[in-house]
Amino acid sequence: MTTDAFIGLGSNLKQPAAQLARAVSELAALPSTVLVAQSPFYASRPVGPQDQPDFVNGAVWLRTSLPPHQLLDQLQVIEQAHGRERIRHWGPRTLDLDLLVYGNQVLNDKRLTVPHRELANRDFALQPLLDLKADLALPDGTPIAKLRSQCPDNSLRKLPPADYP
Ligand code: AMP
Repeated sequence: MTTDAFIGLGSNLKQPAAQLARAVSELAALPSTVLVAQSPFYASRPVGPQDQPDFVNGAVWLRTSLPPHQLLDQLQVIEQAHGRERIRHWGPRTLDLDLLVYGNQVLNDKRLTVPHRELANRDFALQPLLDLKADLALPDGTPIAKLRSQCPDNSLRKLPPADYP
């Protein structure tokens, strides 16, 4: 059985768009997983401390037979391979991968909250999801488009493909 999973990507260090492009290839190469689509990339202002570079964000749509915790394991392996440093909470990072939506599953345990806890507050996650699937909804039926229309604006700017690596 396969599940449609949506992963949010973010970076604001060491050539962020290149970090994202590499991560998309790595996600596409995960076992028991295919890449259905990737979103455009966006530049966004940082959440939290403002004395750090802007972020580049995007999302991918995967179809996978990995169970959610195994998928999270794989996301963390990819983050580590990008030399992710956790200098401070909400601080700069080379790569952040979040499991935003995993089919219709609702999970809330020590390691994993799905749908992602902050999704409704993050235009830089909601907009790429809409680009991937305009009619995507949360397991409770809330359309992502509705969340996007209610979300605080974070000066999202779509990056022209020429700016991708
Ligand atoms: P952060 O550094 O803010 O990305 O948080 C990473 C931590 O969040 C990890 O320890 C994960 O176990 C936890 N986590 C909880 N829910 C999720 C999720 N949906 N996607 C990614 N990490 C998650």
